[in-house]
Amino acid sequence: MVASFAHYRVWVGMSKRILIFILGAVFLSSFLSAAEKRPNILFIFCDDHATQAISAYGGPLAKLAPTPNIDRIAREGILFRKCYVTNSICGPSRAVVLTGKYSHLNGFTTNTDTFDGTQQTAPKLLQQAGYSTAIVGKWHLKSEPTGFDHFEVLKGQGEYYNPRLRTSGGIAVSEGYVTDIITDHSIDWLESRDPEKPFLLMSQHKAPHGRWEPAIRHLEFLDDVEVPEPVTLFDDYSGRSKAAAQHEMGIADHMGDFRLMFQYSSKHTPEQKAALDAYFVSRNKAFLEANLEGKDKTRWHYQRYIKNYLRCVKAVDESVGRLLDYLDDNGLSDNTIVIYSSDQGFYLGEHGWFDKRWMYEESFRTPLLVRWPGHIEAGSVNRDDIVSNLDFASTFLDLAGAPLPEDLQGASLVPVLRGATPQDWRKTHYYHYYESGGHGVPLHFGVTDGRYKLIRFPESHLDSWELFDIESDPLELESRYDDPALLEVQSGLHSELKRLQSLYEVSE
Ligand code: CA
Repeated sequence: MVASFAHYRVWVGMSKRILIFILGAVFLSSFLSAAEKRPNILFIFCDDHATQAISAYGGPLAKLAPTPNIDRIAREGILFRKCYVTNSICGPSRAVVLTGKYSHLNGFTTNTDTFDGTQQTAPKLLQQAGYSTAIVGKWHLKSEPTGFDHFEVLKGQGEYYNPRLRTSGGIAVSEGYVTDIITDHSIDWLESRDPEKPFLLMSQHKAPHGRWEPAIRHLEFLDDVEVPEPVTLFDDYSGRSKAAAQHEMGIADHMGDFRLMFQYSSKHTPEQKAALDAYFVSRNKAFLEANLEGKDKTRWHYQRYIKNYLRCVKAVDESVGRLLDYLDDNGLSDNTIVIYSSDQGFYLGEHGWFDKRWMYEESFRTPLLVRWPGHIEAGSVNRDDIVSNLDFASTFLDLAGAPLPEDLQGASLVPVLRGATPQDWRKTHYYHYYESGGHGVPLHFGVTDGRYKLIRFPESHLDSWELFDIESDPLELESRYDDPALLEVQSGLHSELKRLQSLYEVSE
């Protein structure tokens, strides 16, 4: 009996140790598998892609120029209606995305600046956290990209045809259409990456930035239709301060031969040039012979502009489809978060404009669509939360399980994506445009709470404020500044503006 009891105790002791070992192994393996399952991040970032030209956002262009592949991201994920930028212009927006800091702190306030690549960026921190990082396509920050295992970026603004691409090995021309090339090279990198590591791939298009040269296969798209004009195409800028009227971004007067495709910006091959000529030359001739004046001329400009813009978008949409298919075909869709956005919105004829820069809705708002299977409820639409390109860096880091440095000024979108927006999520958003004079747009800054918007034009020739109620005046045609009915709102926004300038360490 004694012997057998001792034997029993030994057996129990051994069983306990085995159990502890098994539990430990299970814990360790689930920990490792959680670590291994850190999601890949595919960030598809366009240039000047307005929400008005994405059919998932609806609007008058949706049926005419659908974007089924971009829409798929929203259908299988979430679409944000209030994603605002901090400074609506190309280079500065990209610097905000990389750093998670406002322009005055990341040092890139206007397109004339050079990005300081020695500073902290999200890609660098992801690299340190064990991610493979790559950027392919538009960079536009002048200095050599840092924080990427692989970079292949367009020289300067980039060309639509036969673009020059810069790598650590130098600059080489790739023959073909830029949107296709960026996608080809993005997929090449996905093929060659280290499969043991999660990845961040920033696949960044030039399109649909001007000057709008469509792919040859899309030249006939929309050829036989008249694209509806925005109701503000002939805006007279009354009802606001003097600022808007001083623009130099008018479809009537400021497009020039290159934007209208009377001249080409790219260096084409003889075959490419012949194909473009075959479409444009006869149509250009007919326009010149018609000698259109006034509104008729503006209307022709608008059709030429919007059709080429939407043709450029069509190639982007096809590219998004190719990347989503690649994820599907390679078993990556479930563990890859796909983020689609643009460096800012754009005017597609609203207020008579092309271009961006203003704090008015069309360029202040940027698209944001995100798919993350198992984490985002398919088909979600977030109408109310104010999110921003300021949040992208924090989001990347949070997804990677990396610590968020305290100096980041945005917040992680991860809880918002999951439908659990924190109680203390921002209720207002600060904007600051610095590139005074570009396309006639003056320096301005302001704040919005998602409904009301206060804008300040501080330069002495303007020295004015504007206040809009986006709910009752979505086209922003009537400033209500000093309207007695809105004095309380106005005063609240003035206080909020001061608070945010102090919070973000802004000096006017
Ligand atoms: Ca841009």
